[in-house]
Amino acid sequence: RGSIDFSGLGKVFGNGTQALRDVDLTVNSGEFISIVGPSGCGKSTLLRIAAGLDVPTTGTSRVGDGVIGFVFQEATLLHWRNVAQNVELLMELQGVPKKDRIERREEAVDLVGLGGFQRHLPKQLSGGMKMRVSIARALTLNPEIFLFDEPFGALDELTRERLNTEVTSVFANRPFTGMFVTHNIFEAVFLSTRVVVMSGRPGTILGEVEVPLPFP
Ligand code: ADP
Ligand code: ADP
Repeated sequence: RGSIDFSGLGKVFGNGTQALRDVDLTVNSGEFISIVGPSGCGKSTLLRIAAGLDVPTTGTSRVGDGVIGFVFQEATLLHWRNVAQNVELLMELQGVPKKDRIERREEAVDLVGLGGFQRHLPKQLSGGMKMRVSIARALTLNPEIFLFDEPFGALDELTRERLNTEVTSVFANRPFTGMFVTHNIFEAVFLSTRVVVMSGRPGTILGEVEVPLPFP
């Protein structure tokens, strides 16, 4: 339950670009790993395959069997919906009854510290706040697997640092399996228990480092 397993994974795009070669990686249930590496080494491609948004050319990808939560760089909020309506979006698509939607939305919005902003539209929020709305929206489905693709990439350094701390506390007591893609090694070490390093074109795994816990 909730584990991720890639074996001999390769990806060649239609235009001939080989993005991944021979990627073997297992993320155990309840583990939160980071993937770091330079731009273009295939990190996003790997995450998209994990998410089922893309298929590998060779090898196999097995990713849990329940709901997967995504948090991507662009906060992907609907600009005509306010915070509350954006947070309820995925639950609406899943047909969650209104009463449950409201309860789960209130809980998620409080967790990310946006309780007082539910009637605000995305354009009235800062970048950091929009990202927190995205995180709240993903939390409402209580996914067993969370995939983060450079979620803080577009934010300034101070906001990034603050969100790192917030994310750590929001997720601290939740049993979930996570994959976090970043090119920021400090972020990787701060947030995860294992850092996997990718490099090259096509991207392969160079090695990995365990992060001793608790990290101060
Ligand atoms: P990263 O996330 O590490 O920056 P990506 O996974 O986005 O790397 O990209 C890996 C390589 O695959 C890059 O050379 C990129 O240009 C290429 N690539 C990514 N998506 C596509 C696509 N849809 N079609 C062709 N090439 C792609
Ligand atoms: P950024 O750093 O991207 O501008 P922040 O999350 O820091 O984003 O929010 C910007 C402004 O909104 C700050 O002045 C901050 O004090 C305020 N703000 C953010 N979240 C809250 C909150 N939960 N309650 C009150 N003010 C907030």
